[in-house]
Amino acid sequence: MLALQGDFAEHTDVVRRLGAEAIPVRLPQHLPGLHGLIIPGGESTTIVRLLDIFGLRQPILELAQRAAIFGTCAGMILLAKQATDLAQPTLGLIDIVVQRNAFGRQVDSFEAALPFKGLATPVQAVFIRAPLILKAGPAVEVLASLPDGTPVAARQGNILVAAFHPELTADTRVHGYFLGLAQESSRLC
Ligand code: GLN
Repeated sequence: MLALQGDFAEHTDVVRRLGAEAIPVRLPQHLPGLHGLIIPGGESTTIVRLLDIFGLRQPILELAQRAAIFGTCAGMILLAKQATDLAQPTLGLIDIVVQRNAFGRQVDSFEAALPFKGLATPVQAVFIRAPLILKAGPAVEVLASLPDGTPVAARQGNILVAAFHPELTADTRVHGYFLGLAQESSRLC
């Protein structure tokens, strides 16, 4: 669990409720041995600044070679290949272009029940000053979209992103999906 800023405590609760171990990551020495990493929602400009201050950028890029990574909201922005209105470079681990704060002030925050590929019934998606996916490359599988077709959750191999906050509802299925990816990665190495 990347525990620099944002709602990592909520994510940690969900992971533990699912019976998995969650270790807070604040420094590069916390990364070895992990099978997955969650980059939580928060403020992407702050998280990316702290990431560089604590020397976590390169070690996270290396971790992505052998572990699953899940980014929600600000975390999705950081994992994207490109993000609008972000001065610092992103991690670029998934071939998507995202627009920060895409829903403007009027609809700052909202909820929607969205079908999610692989899950039997829709998930209640909570959006808070959320980004959206403007473009997704051919290797990216879109997992959930808004009714107008805008993609809001996607996966490329071991990298999972969601513009919304599954950690803020009682439904643990999206985290369960991620733990499945982490388990797969752990079997490969
Ligand atoms: N608006 C935030 C950003 O651009 C993301 C909001 C969130 O993570 N809930 O970083």
